Amino acid sequence: MPAAVRRGRLPGMPTSPTDGPPRVVIAGSGFAAIEAALALRHRRSADALRITLLSPAERFRYPPLAVLAPFTREPEWTLPLRTIADELDLELHRGTIASVDADARVAWTPGGDALPYDALLVATGARADRSLEGAVPFRGPQDAPRVGALLDAVVADGGGTVAFVAPTAAWALPLYELALLSAAELDRRGAHQAQVVVVTHAADPLGAFGAQAADVARARLARHGVVLRTAARPVRVEPGAIVLEDGERIAADHVVAMPALHPRAISGLPTDAAGFLPIDRHARVVGRPGVYAAGDATAEPIKQGGLACQQADAAAEALLADLGADLRPTPYLPVLRAVLVSDDDPAYLRMPLDRERSGALPAPTEPAVRPGAWPAGKVVGHYLSPYLSERADGPWRPDRPVAQPR
Ligand SMILES: Cc1cc2nc3c(=O)[nH]c(=O)nc-3n(C[C@H](O)[C@H](O)[C@H](O)COP(=O)(O)OP(=O)(O)OC[C@H]3O[C@@H](n4cnc5c(N)ncnc54)[C@H](O)[C@@H]3O)c2cc1C
Repeated sequence: MPAAVRRGRLPGMPTSPTDGPPRVVIAGSGFAAIEAALALRHRRSADALRITLLSPAERFRYPPLAVLAPFTREPEWTLPLRTIADELDLELHRGTIASVDADARVAWTPGGDALPYDALLVATGARADRSLEGAVPFRGPQDAPRVGALLDAVVADGGGTVAFVAPTAAWALPLYELALLSAAELDRRGAHQAQVVVVTHAADPLGAFGAQAADVARARLARHGVVLRTAARPVRVEPGAIVLEDGERIAADHVVAMPALHPRAISGLPTDAAGFLPIDRHARVVGRPGVYAAGDATAEPIKQGGLACQQADAAAEALLADLGADLRPTPYLPVLRAVLVSDDDPAYLRMPLDRERSGALPAPTEPAVRPGAWPAGKVVGHYLSPYLSERADGPWRPDRPVAQPR
């Protein structure tokens, strides 16, 4: 390792606001934050790099498993941040990031705590809000009991229509999972008169993964008797119906909607028109040397846990290189990966999004090469999936060893 990194002297930088080894502050403690911490620790020990995690949370949470909660009624699987911090030699600072002074290289909390940094990674995610008035939002584990309760109501009534709606372009995989799992559950519980409907703005189900994945989704929905309505733009819910932009009404007794994602404001950083952080191909925040961003907080078009981890890996390499480490940072070349969960075998989906640059060929499904063990590998992170799968317990223990896709 170059002496520059060991001593905290940072070539090309006017001042180093911290003494001793360089300090990386990671704001957040979700997928992007922990993947970045693992990627950094993979290359640098605590003697060479101090890492501070700035987060209001006490535990690492795993929202994607929330799609199972209405059916298993299992408690949410979480991991104490203290455990992660002890294992990875991270300092924990409880609080939120409110503003950044990029010239002085200091991050500030709302209460006035100053965190000097040599590199700052913003991984604060996004705020999930209701997207459709009158619908039950599905933002994560907190909404699972409401979905469970509405399925109970359908069973008690002996029928009814449950609609799962994606009104915006947000990540829609959970919608299909909830619809497929609900159809199977209602069937199992004898509610044979019940109807499950998926209503999406998209032209094809799971269209981001290409035509082959859309066929897989269509076939599974059809097998479970789920009605699919594509290219529909719901604007509101009225008693007994979803109303579309063009005035058409789709009958529905219960409506569950995917949320809309909104940015968390951090003053001192640039944003796009919607308020998200613009990054370059190395996850550097545009126009703010020393600041990097990854995950749902960024202005990247698809907000997804696996992509958040890939951005975090790119950020970790770029920031080490910028601090003087002798490595050539790999750019962010997104590959979308997902596991579609239903009563059938999990479907493993994959789609390189930057085929021109990466040279990768589209391979929408990978039945043979399974990227991450279920369930801890539902979000595919090069370092995170194996790390979590070793710590998962009870029903969350993986069904097989976890690979480390890149
Ligand atoms: C129901 C559901 C199912 C999903 N299924 C999948 C799936 O199958 N596969 C997949 O890849 N993705 C899935 N996703 C998307 C995935 O969960 C998100 O894309 C992912 O969580 C984004 O990671 P992140 O690290 O950017 O943000 P988050 O995981 O949201 O983490 C943000 C972190 O920042 C902290 N924080 C918030 N504000 C501040 C602040 N001001 N300062 C410091 N810290 C702050 C939070 O406490 C949290 O620790 C799903 C999401 C949901 C809701």
